[in-house]
Amino acid sequence: MGRKHAIVIGASLGGLCAARVLSSAFDDVTVFERDPLPEGPANRPAVPQGRHVHLLMARGAAEFESLFPGLLADMVACGVPILENRPDCIHFGAAGHLLGTTHRLQDEFTAYVPSRPHLEWQIRRRVLALDNARLMDRGVDEPVYDGHRVTGVRTADGATVDADFVVDATGRGTRLPVWLSQWGFERPREDTVDVGIAYATHQLRIPDGLIDEKVIVVGASRTQPRGLGMLYYEDGTWGLTTFGVGKVPAPTDFNEMRELAEELLPAHIGAALHQAHPLGDVALHKYPTSRWRRFDELDRYPRGILPFGDAVASFNPTFGQGMTMTSLQAGHLQRALQTPDPEATFLAATAKSTWPVWTMNAIGDLTMHGADGPAPWWYRPVGALFDQFLGAAESDPVLAEWFLRRFSLLDSLYMVPSARLIGRTIRHNMTLWARSNTVQLVADDGDAGWVFGLWPVLVR
Ligand SMILES: Cc1cc2nc3c(=O)[nH]c(=O)nc-3n(C[C@H](O)[C@H](O)[C@H](O)COP(=O)(O)OP(=O)(O)OC[C@H]3O[C@@H](n4cnc5c(N)ncnc54)[C@H](O)[C@@H]3O)c2cc1C
Repeated sequence: MGRKHAIVIGASLGGLCAARVLSSAFDDVTVFERDPLPEGPANRPAVPQGRHVHLLMARGAAEFESLFPGLLADMVACGVPILENRPDCIHFGAAGHLLGTTHRLQDEFTAYVPSRPHLEWQIRRRVLALDNARLMDRGVDEPVYDGHRVTGVRTADGATVDADFVVDATGRGTRLPVWLSQWGFERPREDTVDVGIAYATHQLRIPDGLIDEKVIVVGASRTQPRGLGMLYYEDGTWGLTTFGVGKVPAPTDFNEMRELAEELLPAHIGAALHQAHPLGDVALHKYPTSRWRRFDELDRYPRGILPFGDAVASFNPTFGQGMTMTSLQAGHLQRALQTPDPEATFLAATAKSTWPVWTMNAIGDLTMHGADGPAPWWYRPVGALFDQFLGAAESDPVLAEWFLRRFSLLDSLYMVPSARLIGRTIRHNMTLWARSNTVQLVADDGDAGWVFGLWPVLVR
């Protein structure tokens, strides 16, 4: 493969990360984007998800920083809130369990809360500043395939632009499966989970001093199919997103959204929302299906083109992992370009990092969130065990911290606790169970109560 010119289709976060990596391996990089790109941080019609709360996981922030050194400091200088795990800064509900507010966690980790348009703008201007990369406001109709490899693209204005390598970062609507079949290859199998998610978001202004937290997230649970996220942004506004899972509609009217917040959140936040001023109209978004296209499983795959970002895997957005998973693919691409078979190497590495996160999401969605899709027999017991783990994590900071770090995709992508942590969970839950039953037994039978009262001490 020559290393003169690489093309990226799509200038959202995926395409921009790919462009950064390619700029170190090719003489020139051209990014084609069909959506007019704004000068500053602004929502774009082609990225409708940008109007809804976008959590940047701690791992994603670190990966973006390694691609674009100085990014995080610049964001903070622009007013992006930085969270250093202070207990007053996060209110975190996971699958019906409340973590993170009641106690200080053991180890610190830092999170950043840029709005999605701000993050994309910060990254876009860094790509624009690269000597050998340029952004073209032009759509791509299709890649050009010569029977052996992809040799460039045909743009929407009918021009053919040659390239040694093409990255398709057109998002979850990618047409790469169609192009593959037109070129005589199989279409990739698709793993899907019908999550049936509906989003509604209002941007708000809330008077200063009413809410200390900067990130408020309450996920859906078995008993509550609706959740919400509230993020404080760099421009002093708040994003309030409500969502429903399993085809349950999200409240869309601001009064209904506030009622849900009052139901799910501590009283001071509900009270603050009574003094909030909604800005503009509510934004709505439907996300019916999480989708993982298994390009990695194809027996034959063409040279010269790779899918990237959501084009490979689009994750349930309520878990806030998409951008971070995209940032991991940038590392895979970097390493793959140093091998003789970058296409196969990248696809295999991406499949390896996608599997644990995809599987854990699928377990949560299919066993707790009313989603439809194929579920192996072991999903249900694993889901039940995880529910036990999160129950214990409500009052055990060690377990809560382990969960929050893994959920932020730090340390490892595998959400599999060690035997020591499983033992700790069992002991903790038995202690809690015994305590509550001790109270019950003392109330029921004062003589027997002391025996059960010892149990928490014995199992500690
Ligand atoms: C509702 C919602 C909420 C989300 N929340 C979070 C969150 O909280 N945290 C998180 O980490 N992730 C979240 N995500 C996921 C995150 O937005 C994506 O993972 C991330 O944007 C990377 O996507 P991408 O760049 O691969 O594709 P996209 O962002 O979809 O961008 C594709 C780009 O390709 C361009 N394009 C398409 N076709 C062409 C063409 N033919 N020619 C030229 N350009 C083209 C489009 O205009 C667009 O700019 C959310 C997603 C949704 C839907």
